[in-house]
Amino acid sequence: MAKQPGGSRPPSPTRLPAEGTAGDRASAGGGAPPPLAGVYDELMNCMRCGFCLPACPTYRHLGRETHSPRGRIALVKAVADGQLAAESLTLPIDLCLGCRACEPVCPAGVAYGHILEETRAHLFERVVPNVRLLRWLGGLLWFYEKLGLRRLARATGILARLPGHLGEFEAALTDFAPPTERLPQGAVYPAVGEQRGRVAFLTGCVAEALLHRTNRRTVQLLCAAGFEVVLPKGQTCCGALHAHAGDAATARRLAKENIAAFEASGADWYVSNAGGCGAQLREYPHLLREEPDWHARAEKFAARVRDVAELLVAHGAPLPFRALDARVTYQDSCHLLNVQKVKAQPRALLRRVPGLELVEMAECDRCCGSAGSYSLRHFDTSMKLLDEKMAHLRRTGATIITTGNPGCLLQLRLGIQRAGLTGRVRAEHTVDLLAEVCEQLPRLP
Ligand code: SF4
Ligand code: SF4
Repeated sequence: MAKQPGGSRPPSPTRLPAEGTAGDRASAGGGAPPPLAGVYDELMNCMRCGFCLPACPTYRHLGRETHSPRGRIALVKAVADGQLAAESLTLPIDLCLGCRACEPVCPAGVAYGHILEETRAHLFERVVPNVRLLRWLGGLLWFYEKLGLRRLARATGILARLPGHLGEFEAALTDFAPPTERLPQGAVYPAVGEQRGRVAFLTGCVAEALLHRTNRRTVQLLCAAGFEVVLPKGQTCCGALHAHAGDAATARRLAKENIAAFEASGADWYVSNAGGCGAQLREYPHLLREEPDWHARAEKFAARVRDVAELLVAHGAPLPFRALDARVTYQDSCHLLNVQKVKAQPRALLRRVPGLELVEMAECDRCCGSAGSYSLRHFDTSMKLLDEKMAHLRRTGATIITTGNPGCLLQLRLGIQRAGLTGRVRAEHTVDLLAEVCEQLPRLP
């Protein structure tokens, strides 16, 4: 690992430009609002104390102020003040994982995630995913495995010659399910036993493309716990990938489509099984803050959002689990922990499984390096974080590691493979492990 910052005294602050407000600057210029005006107050909230530095994975590994939250905020403010060219931000902002580990530790409550999204929206080329293409890819991967092409590709060594480490990522993609197992939008699944409420489930785009079996098990678990589950018709991608890539306009459009679809479901709670998607749903009020009607609807919408583990613990009927003789550890998803504040509930559910020994892994709250497309764009930094995570995993002696976000799950599977732990340790979504040992899982059509 590179330089280890932190300790009782945070490093000295970056020198910042002269202070002022976005309004001052706009009126001084007499023209349109300056760039980044929407987060200028947030930039001003940073008091440069440096408490966020030890929490930041990129600062820990790269050891440079420009790759710390405080340094990034200083650079963004300098650009907003016209003292620095926007290009100077490219590398520091692109290297940011967006994990938001800097937020819970900030005494000033700086909403760094909002600064990051606004900066990306202003300064970066937009690279956004295509939901239909993702689903098509998911189906294609299933056929690829089913037809034996995967074995052939491995035997011929062709995967090792793929560009951009794609061969390594390919090997981490497991547990493919046939496209016919996808649950249709508009479907309603009844509760087992006495009904405790009606749940609208967000299937997501990456999860539905690559891990739709996990979605199916999520619905089964919710039904087993006494919820009627509906898959709202017209639901779409949560918009997190668009927002993180700087495409705020598309993120807002998707948010409105989801709000309308989920409102029409008549559900008590809106549930996600993906830490990043759930975090984005909870951020809809911020995303739609400049449109009063939509903002009011987004506030009501966000108040109903729950992570699946959170809902099961708070309102679910006790699930009948058979014994599992295994040592298990849990990796926090950054957005589930730092944005949704869900930490205890997945652990509480795992502890309910008889015979399961839950052990805490050192730095389980640190980013695994997945961070959307980060592992593709910054492979070396991502793998540094991942390999360190695998060293911690090895020390727990666990044979199963669970997590609550599809991207983290795929990254952990890649890490297990890189660490030579295949066959000895497996990574699962927490929902999949719980479904595996649940004795009353209803059958779905
Ligand atoms: S972001 Fe928060 S913790 Fe970090 S330097 Fe600014 S005020 Fe301090
Ligand atoms: S979001 Fe994560 S990587 Fe980015 S500045 Fe904050 S702690 Fe560092």
